[in-house]
Amino acid sequence: MYDCIVIGAGIAGAVAARKLAEEKGKRVLVLERRDHIGGNCYDERDEHGILIHNYGPHIFHTGMEDVFTYLSRFTDWYLFGHEVVAKVGDGLIPVPFNLNTLEMVYGEKAGPLAAKLKKTYGEGSRVPIMKLRESEDPDIREIAQYVYENIFLQYTMKQWGQKPEEISPEVTGRVPVLISHDNRYFQDQYQGVPKDGFTAMFERILDHEGITVRCGVDCKEVLSIREDGVSFEGQPFDGDVIYTGALDELFDCRFGRLPYRSLEFQFEHYDTDSWQGHSVVNYTVSEDFTRITEFKFLTGQQDADGTTIVKEYPFAYTGAEGEIPYYAILNEENRALYEKYRGLTGRLERFHLLGRLAEYRYYNIDAMVKKAFELTEQM
Ligand code: FAD
Ligand code: UDP
Repeated sequence: MYDCIVIGAGIAGAVAARKLAEEKGKRVLVLERRDHIGGNCYDERDEHGILIHNYGPHIFHTGMEDVFTYLSRFTDWYLFGHEVVAKVGDGLIPVPFNLNTLEMVYGEKAGPLAAKLKKTYGEGSRVPIMKLRESEDPDIREIAQYVYENIFLQYTMKQWGQKPEEISPEVTGRVPVLISHDNRYFQDQYQGVPKDGFTAMFERILDHEGITVRCGVDCKEVLSIREDGVSFEGQPFDGDVIYTGALDELFDCRFGRLPYRSLEFQFEHYDTDSWQGHSVVNYTVSEDFTRITEFKFLTGQQDADGTTIVKEYPFAYTGAEGEIPYYAILNEENRALYEKYRGLTGRLERFHLLGRLAEYRYYNIDAMVKKAFELTEQM
């Protein structure tokens, strides 16, 4: 009855399913464990009518023209340049740390310091904090120390339970020091959110005659995946299977759990138009939560009174009921464990791993869409 089975209706699974149905003429079954589509991009109105992102704030951003054009078939956009500020002492400073931040922090001394940064790294460049800390110039070292202490150290301790120098440089490198006056968090050309929300965009992506979506179904209830073959509802299945869930779970964590960081989201509603006046405020030196997002400032929503915010409290994922693995912890040991699990799928030619869980790595939405393009093109 089906040519392909896609497990997970997040961005990876949804785009892959659409591509296979529309461009390859496949009959695709999408199995989703949650009672809704959209994966971690899912959004919905809360009891006060405010559009919230249930699994953490999501801003679509990309420089990839083909990805933007593709998703634009399924949604209009509310586009903006996403800005983040950090609460340091009583003030708010732009993050990533850039030349505007430098001027706020160093006042009159900022001019010569900016000149030195430009001369050393080049105007417009993006310098990872760990690289800035390697400088032997005392002025640059002082700036690096300021940025390290006031932006990275405590936020990273909260987020990862480790110091910036203990985690993969790839991670802190996502938020470099900018040698420019650009206050935007991302430098991609397109930034924003789907005009009617992410969930509506997913509904349109999955709305195709070749696609059947079953929510509330864990793939393990209907699929059996062994090292030598796949069965669906008790019968051998020789079509393609795309799996976007966690790889260790698929094999009952037989080599031990893959480590992840998780988050607890605390939503709060206030009867006021504006609670913090910014979409995202990072708490880089105080509090137990990492950041507060005020949804109205992210989505531009104007048709509901009051405002809803969310605080993010990180913790170590244990696999307990209800916990969600959000961030793969990138290091050699964990990668090796992941590869051991991947080895179990080595003989399954038509079994494909796609997505941030299945591949045990960090992907932004746009990179995930691109990866779904690449995989389905070769299928
Ligand atoms: P997911 O969205 O996790 O989807 C996987 C789906 O598979 C889930 O719905 C899950 O229920 C389902 N599933 C798993 N196992 C099974 C099973 N056994 N049976 C059936 N279904 C199963 N990216 C950005 O570009 N911009 C941002 O601003 C941004 N913000 C983020 C904020 C947070 C807090 C986090 C954690 C991530 C953020 N991301 C952001 C990244 C973004 O969430 C991911 O790129 C994207 O969700 C990855 O999609 P996916 O399909 O791989 O995974
Ligand atoms: N980071 C930080 N302070 C900040 C912002 C980011 O220390 O104000 C560090 C932190 O380690 C974080 C990493 O940079 O995990 C990447 O930040 P990003 O915003 O990309 O994280 P995301 O939540 O999107 O994964």
